[in-house]
Amino acid sequence: MTPERAAEVIRLDKAHHWHPFTQMQEWNAVEHEPLILTGGEGAWLTDHRGRRYLDGNSSIWTNIHGHGHPVIAEAIREQLGKVAHVSALGFANEPAARLAAELAGLWPEGTLSRVFFSDDGSTAIECALKMALQYFQLSGRPERRRFAAFEMAYHGDTMGAASLGGIPAYHERFRGHVMEACRVGGMEDLEALAEEEVARLAGVVIEPLIMGAAGMRLWPAGMLRRLREWCTVRGVLLIADEVMTGFGRTGKLFACEHEGVVPDMVAVAKGLTGGFMPLAATMTTETVFEAFLGRVEEMKTFFYGHSYSGHALGCAAALASLEVFRRERTLERLRPLMAVLGRELGRLREEQRRYVGDVRQCGFIAGIDVVRDAATGERWDWREQMGMRVCVAARKHGLLTRPVRDTLVVMLPLCCTEREVELAVRALGLAIGEACGGAGV
Ligand SMILES: *Cc1c(COP(=O)(O)O)cnc(C)c1O
Repeated sequence: MTPERAAEVIRLDKAHHWHPFTQMQEWNAVEHEPLILTGGEGAWLTDHRGRRYLDGNSSIWTNIHGHGHPVIAEAIREQLGKVAHVSALGFANEPAARLAAELAGLWPEGTLSRVFFSDDGSTAIECALKMALQYFQLSGRPERRRFAAFEMAYHGDTMGAASLGGIPAYHERFRGHVMEACRVGGMEDLEALAEEEVARLAGVVIEPLIMGAAGMRLWPAGMLRRLREWCTVRGVLLIADEVMTGFGRTGKLFACEHEGVVPDMVAVAKGLTGGFMPLAATMTTETVFEAFLGRVEEMKTFFYGHSYSGHALGCAAALASLEVFRRERTLERLRPLMAVLGRELGRLREEQRRYVGDVRQCGFIAGIDVVRDAATGERWDWREQMGMRVCVAARKHGLLTRPVRDTLVVMLPLCCTEREVELAVRALGLAIGEACGGAGV
């Protein structure tokens, strides 16, 4: 991109584009020169000056097989040659029908066999909540109208999804606007709930294995299975938010598989299309689905949907992404990469002892806490934005990523090489040394 053109893009952006989760006063400051990302190939992104970076957070946790993957790109092109989008209200389309069947096939036979399409993680959760509420109304248990959600959970930003969120900075100001979530810290809190409280629950919503926006926090092993049993015994729906964990990130296609758990509903989005298109799905069981069946005048219809539900290009991309999983044996290829990631994280911890606190890994996802003093556990003042400063410093070493507060995130596309995993973690090591102000001894 020519410097003149880049300057124009930045001028237009600063004048009109309101960015998500961004303090725009800082963004628009004269001294802030945003990177313009102009291209992507495999695990790499290119900026307007032609510099290349590893995509260390998979473009906000969406990309799976790399940018520009030819199989996915071609599938989109082929569908584009037919039609980009047709309404799912009243019509079928081939990619959506095939994708629904394939998604159902990814879970044990006769479990999550019904698929409702929407656009992103938030709408997939929103859809699950409304589906659960209406399900209990239709099954003669309208008193089941609350949801339990976990402290520090993140389920998206639409009103319903946000009211389940448990991160104070994001969710406090909207609390109570839509529904009261019954907030629990973990299994112990849930098990301690009074019976009349439990009797009012429609569902428990959980990010299985690892809570992303909470700062890559891990659940204890076995927790998900315990939760499954708890829900089954009490007739509460288990709603798994696999928006971040879905499609291989944790080493299996879905995080729930690690504990042999099948939820009553699951929401998928981010990686569904390999990171190419906004598309989401809410999956559920035949039991839930059948409660909505009846004659039109019975008013059992699920009155929910979006203009772009079942988007043909998105579904074509998702089908192609699943095809790539099979063809490239992505999950098999991932195993040694997870080991390399573990080894590199261990090394980073050794080399940056002073500034690295807790380090967590779940499959191919890692969270690294940067602290002021690891010996005493003293944290940085959040206003220092140390996590962000480390990530900005990492750019010079060829890595783009974005922290969750002071937790550095390593979430590379699954198509990486061992060399690229090393590069990513080592770039963070160098950046920690620079940004935290010392060599870390
Ligand atoms: C990102 C995310 C969401 C929200 O998805 P959007 O596509 O951003 O609306 C919901 N749940 C989890 C676990 C997420 O990581």
